[in-house]
Amino acid sequence: MKEIRNFINGEFVETARHFTKRSPMDYSPIARVHEAGKAEIDRAVEAAHAALRGPWGNLSLSERSGMLSALVDAITLRFDDFLEAECADTGKPRSLAAHLDIPRGAANFKVFADLIRSVPAEFFESATPDGRGALNYSIRRPVGVIGVVCPWNLPLLLMTWKVGPALACGNTVVVKPSEETPQTATLLGEVMNQVGIPAGVYNVVHGFGPDSAGAFLTEHPKVNAITFTGETRTGTAIMKAAAQGARPVSLELGGKNPAIVFADCDLDAAIEGCLRSSFSNSGQVCLATERIYVERPLFEKFVQRLKEGAEALKIGCPDDEGVELGPLVSREHQEKVLSYYRKAAGMGATVVTGGGVPPMPERLAQGCWVQPTIWTGLDDDSIIAREEIFGPCVLVQPFDAEDEVIRRANDTEYGLACSIWTQNLSRAHRVAAQIEAGLVWVNSWFLRELRAPFGGSKQSGIGREGGVHSLEFYTELRNICIKL
Ligand code: NAD
Repeated sequence: MKEIRNFINGEFVETARHFTKRSPMDYSPIARVHEAGKAEIDRAVEAAHAALRGPWGNLSLSERSGMLSALVDAITLRFDDFLEAECADTGKPRSLAAHLDIPRGAANFKVFADLIRSVPAEFFESATPDGRGALNYSIRRPVGVIGVVCPWNLPLLLMTWKVGPALACGNTVVVKPSEETPQTATLLGEVMNQVGIPAGVYNVVHGFGPDSAGAFLTEHPKVNAITFTGETRTGTAIMKAAAQGARPVSLELGGKNPAIVFADCDLDAAIEGCLRSSFSNSGQVCLATERIYVERPLFEKFVQRLKEGAEALKIGCPDDEGVELGPLVSREHQEKVLSYYRKAAGMGATVVTGGGVPPMPERLAQGCWVQPTIWTGLDDDSIIAREEIFGPCVLVQPFDAEDEVIRRANDTEYGLACSIWTQNLSRAHRVAAQIEAGLVWVNSWFLRELRAPFGGSKQSGIGREGGVHSLEFYTELRNICIKL
């Protein structure tokens, strides 16, 4: 079993309390994780402040940006170690982690290391009564020590999506990875040391949420701002913690994302896209589609094709040849998803495919597997249409008119993402602009431009990250006024 330690002030730190990380594939113990208590959080926050005052805070912008670029190369050199750790923690197919999680995890440093070199500043000339005038300009300064609280679904990618811009802007961080996925954040500590990023700039503390490392970090009065990705309920608790001391928050929260499939779509592309958006990473993607609305003339054919696609998905372990679907991350999450499978059946849903646990060979029988599942026959008020399930499952419903489907797609407390499938360009623009979500894709899904804003409307989040939008959160603007 691996030992996973906290990473504080450039050193790996053991604690007296531990918890066990289990494999999603067979539920065997794979790591003993050292849980940080209040004392370790204090040390991490102090180290982050010291780095801010000292070596990190004194670097020039180009030195800082150069170090982050070197970090990208160093992550790439240890690509296989990151890949192995991410797949072991999550159970996701190696092919997925190799083309998404690890390269994007590294790219998140590169994009912000480059961006920070070319951010423009404002400048105003002001009139004054004596006629001489004044010059105003703005400079950006780091916010300070950022608390970064992360989920388990895309562990390295979502963590560096925050740590990349935070460090590029000159802040220091204390990261609390999910208790389900402690490995890659810890491994990144080794790489930080290899590259020579000063001690205290990047710290990792392990543990759970309430009464543990997550709460201790977000309640810590010397944490200057908190960025969080996870469930809406947790985001609400974190916002309350941040209210103490009026500290800023950036929240990337849950979703109940629709896809809208018009009868004039390219059907092959829509099927391929909806299979990906509903089932990739076993549906454990915040942007995943959990509701598909299909224009009635296409409905039967679409459902049949989606069923064939779902049934063809190969389920297995990360290294299995051609595997497309892994287990869910944990027993707890498997039980949550299966409880929705039972509720759907109990409410009289038509189970088009799936609905249970797939038969797995003996050695994997204890793993957290669920079948990819498609339902029809439930209405918009059912909990299956309203609550985020976060598994490989989707409800497909017919619609008749454009106005109707826009209203139904928007009839949710969430507002993260939507995909629209149509070949009618005017309709694509018209409908996209009326969808109440932070991200709308037309004829695609999860096609990310890292300079574009990312975030959720309604209960899917607060704030936008990505490109210059990340600077809104990770820097403070100072106005300097010079009287001439
Ligand atoms: P979660 O909210 O259960 O946990 C996220 C993190 O918060 C974990 O590290 C956890 O230990 C910590 N935490 C829990 N309670 C806390 C508390 N009271 N104080 C401080 N920290 C606390 O989320 P999860 O199950 O890990 O992730 C799945 C959820 O994340 C889904 O709802 C999904 O939609 C959402 N998500 C959103 C985005 C996005 O960009 N909007 C991206 C990925 C995941």
